[in-house]
Amino acid sequence: MVRELYEARWWEAEPNGRVHCYLCPRHCHIGPGQAGFCFIRINQGGALYSLGYGSPAALQVDPIEKKPLNHFLPGTRVFSMGTAGCNMGCFFCQNWDISKSRSDQVRSQHVPPEDVPLLALKYGCDSIAFTYNEPTIWGEYVIDICKEARKHGLKTVMVTNGYITYDAFHDIYDHIDAANVDLKAFTENFYGKITLTHLQPVLETLAWLKNETNVWFEITNLMIPTLNDDPAETRKLCDWILTHLGPYVPLHFTAFHPDFKLQDKPRTPAATLDRARQIALEAGLHYVYEGNIYSDAANTSCPNCGELLVRRSWHEVLENHIKDGACPKCGLSIPGVWANDVKGNGWLKHGSSSGTKAYTHLNL
Ligand code: SF4
Repeated sequence: MVRELYEARWWEAEPNGRVHCYLCPRHCHIGPGQAGFCFIRINQGGALYSLGYGSPAALQVDPIEKKPLNHFLPGTRVFSMGTAGCNMGCFFCQNWDISKSRSDQVRSQHVPPEDVPLLALKYGCDSIAFTYNEPTIWGEYVIDICKEARKHGLKTVMVTNGYITYDAFHDIYDHIDAANVDLKAFTENFYGKITLTHLQPVLETLAWLKNETNVWFEITNLMIPTLNDDPAETRKLCDWILTHLGPYVPLHFTAFHPDFKLQDKPRTPAATLDRARQIALEAGLHYVYEGNIYSDAANTSCPNCGELLVRRSWHEVLENHIKDGACPKCGLSIPGVWANDVKGNGWLKHGSSSGTKAYTHLNL
């Protein structure tokens, strides 16, 4: 079936039929018939179109802990979707088969925005996540799905690299309930050489989230041996978070496994994550987790009295003792979104998925 192209937002016409896309800090200047760096925004006849709109290439039901979000509706399911393409060029991407593909190289399905919440409800989900590739680059589709999701009392989640311009930031995030932002390293050298982007715009996005939105957000730092696991770098990253975002933003140190163009690095040893977590706690962050390994550091404990609040195994919630958003022992308020106040759903226990691939494909 041939579908009409969906005209994009966040672009302006330039001389000679070129267009300037200002959705992300790449600021692509795209010639006629060409696509931007992300593959899914194309110039046709001097206008910019989104090939991602209505065309997810990955659909899956995940535990919310897999995003990872540990302080957002724990133990619930999230309907997760991604398209082709990406605006970063990470050598370690675990979803490179879609993120480094053009939209005609992936198996996408036509799913209009109004169908997404119906599918989420069908599969028992409390929220919808835009994930697997970078959702910023299909922001038009994200916004329309969010509008539909709200009608059904479903929350929405961005799993993002944070590479977005201020021009587009509020257009998208004013519709979003939660985000996990990858802070992939704390050096410009890593961002430049390993992701083909820059660090500063990601830090700016984190600050906008903190200062200008009500979005609940958590941060992930994937630790890659020898590339971004230097303790001094981790300390700088934690100090920046403490200074600019405060002590309560959850930070996830997650383990790398060889993938895509980074096959020559070993898996991250558990000791590296333990050391990073210790640095973060010493820096003053209160909620610091380890992911992609089995570890007690997946649990949430009260920073005041030490009471175990949420016990997890990989992505599975085994116990949740948080009561009315607070520690049941000392009453300390624990930051996060602990119940879906729109739907009034309680805590739902579910199974986990622990494969190394971030997604599988759900046939609708
Ligand atoms: S969203 Fe895509 S086309 Fe637009 S500036 Fe970023 S990489 Fe380029």
